[in-house]
Amino acid sequence: EVLNKIIDTKGSIRVFCRVRPFLLTERRPIREPVSFGPDNVVVRSGGARKEFEFDKVFHQSATQEDVFGEVKPILRSALDGHNVCVLAYGQTGTGKTFTMDGTNEQPGLAPRAIEELFNEASMDHTHSVTFTMSMLEIYMGNLKDLLSARQPLRSNEASTKCNLNIQVDSKGCVEIEGLTEVEVHDFTKARWWYNKGRRVRSTSWTNVNEASSRSHCLTRITIFRRGDAVGSKTEVSKLWMIDLGGSERLLKTGAIGQTLDEGRNSKLTQILKDSLGTRSKVLMLVHISPRDEDAGETICSLSFTKRAR
Ligand code: ADP
Ligand code: MG
Repeated sequence: EVLNKIIDTKGSIRVFCRVRPFLLTERRPIREPVSFGPDNVVVRSGGARKEFEFDKVFHQSATQEDVFGEVKPILRSALDGHNVCVLAYGQTGTGKTFTMDGTNEQPGLAPRAIEELFNEASMDHTHSVTFTMSMLEIYMGNLKDLLSARQPLRSNEASTKCNLNIQVDSKGCVEIEGLTEVEVHDFTKARWWYNKGRRVRSTSWTNVNEASSRSHCLTRITIFRRGDAVGSKTEVSKLWMIDLGGSERLLKTGAIGQTLDEGRNSKLTQILKDSLGTRSKVLMLVHISPRDEDAGETICSLSFTKRAR
């Protein structure tokens, strides 16, 4: 079952919904299929009317700042030693990558979160806090390192680290063998690595759309926090930021597709296993389209995340 492990997490889960605005190339229907309350979404498709509740709903007019403002508290939890998972879910073209990455003018959640971690760390005068960063892609059960040093700028599968193995040690800690983990000392450098990882993801596919509809992109920030008092132990926590593959592919597949999807989703669950314990926090950001022709898919996405709560 797709992502059910994430849903079964014993920690706390919150679900936000964001609808993307109409694009310039799209015609706005006279009667829009999606309408909102402060924490609910109503979708009309055919004769049906379905209503869904969320912890928070972001309308078309919501800015990247608005979204980040609501995500910020969970970053505090990560710095306090909780494992945190932020996942962007939804049909292809609904704005998952826009939310997570954003653009140069409108940076998304990931760059803002990383910047915030550095800011918070610099204000903590009783601990020394350091960060490492890794990025990987999961495609049909295959794990690919997005930050490996020998990564060429243009696509060249032979020299990228593929097929990494997942190991679980005796304490239940998950380790991805050979995955590059870079120490990042400041935001500028962290952003540089992040952009590199994103570029490697997209250049290894024939087109960006295909990359993001068929694969999951995972960014992991590991936080090492040690009290300044003598003898203090180092606390380690992880922040995962995940741009999931298009939900239309995760949910609506034939038998063959299902097998493939199971392969890749079990990898996702394995990787996140030690990040989804009792003290973990999960934030699912469901993205939906405002278009009439997507209303059916919108109901699928929203029904799925309803179970998540
Ligand atoms: P996904 O990653 O879910 O496939 P994208 O993030 O690529 O979707 O978004 C599809 C298109 O919609 C892109 O051109 C993106 O810039 C635009 N878009 C998505 N969300 C927004 C938004 N909130 N505001 C403005 N443009 C958006
Ligand atoms: Mg995308």
